[in-house]
Amino acid sequence: MSDGRYKARMQRKKAHIDSRIEQANIDKGIIVLLTGNGKGKSSSALGMVCRALGYDMKIGIAKFLKGVQDTGEDAFLAKQPNVQTVSMKTGFTWDTQDKEFDTAMAVETWQKAQNYLEDESIDLVVLDELTYMVSYKYLDEQLILDALNNRPSNQHVVITGRAASDGLIEIANTISEVKDVQHAFRENIKAQKGIDL
Ligand code: ATP
Ligand code: MG
Repeated sequence: MSDGRYKARMQRKKAHIDSRIEQANIDKGIIVLLTGNGKGKSSSALGMVCRALGYDMKIGIAKFLKGVQDTGEDAFLAKQPNVQTVSMKTGFTWDTQDKEFDTAMAVETWQKAQNYLEDESIDLVVLDELTYMVSYKYLDEQLILDALNNRPSNQHVVITGRAASDGLIEIANTISEVKDVQHAFRENIKAQKGIDL
C-alpha cells in the first residue's frame, strides 16, 4: 500500500472512531460480567478496583463461595481505607458438603452485598463468584436482579464466576467470557502466590 493510501485509510478510520466516541455520551453506572472457564475473572475485577482506587472512589467487595485460603489481594485490600469487604469464607461446596449451612452463609453475605448496592456513597461493588449462588440455588436470581436494578444510577458493579445465568447475562452491560485454553495446574504446577492467590 502506498503512503498516500495508507494515510487516507487511517484518516477514514480515525473519523469513524471519533464519531463513535462522540455518540457514546451517556454517563452511568454499568454492570460488568466476567464469566467463562479460563483464569482471570476475579483478578480482572481486582484490576478495576485498582483503577477505581486511583480516583479515590469507594468500593464494596462481597466474596461468595471463596476458598478458606486468603489471597494476596485480601492482605492488600485490608490496608485500603476506601475498600469495604465481606467474605463468605465457607470454603468450596465440595469441602463443606452441607447445603443448608452454605445457603445460610450465602444469604448472610448477600445481605451485606445488598447494603453496598443501596449505598449511594459506594461507587463500585464487586460481587465475586456470585454466579454460583444462582446456579446452586443458594440465592434467588430475581432478588439479585431487583437489587441490581434498584441500585444508585452511577454505581458500577462487577460480577464474576463461571456459568452465568440468563438473568445476569440479560442485565449486564459488558460481558466477557474468559476461555480456558491451558492452565498451569494441568502441568501439575501448584497455585502460585501473586498469580493464583
Ligand atoms: P483468578 O482469581 O486467578 O483471576 P478466576 O477468578 O478466573 O481466577 P476462579 O474459578 O475463581 O477463576 O478460580 C480461582 C483459582 O483457580 C485461581 O487460583 C486460578 O488460577 C484457578 N483457576 C482458574 N481457572 C482455572 C482452570 N481453568 N484450571 C485450573 N485452575 C484454574
Ligand atoms: Mg474467581
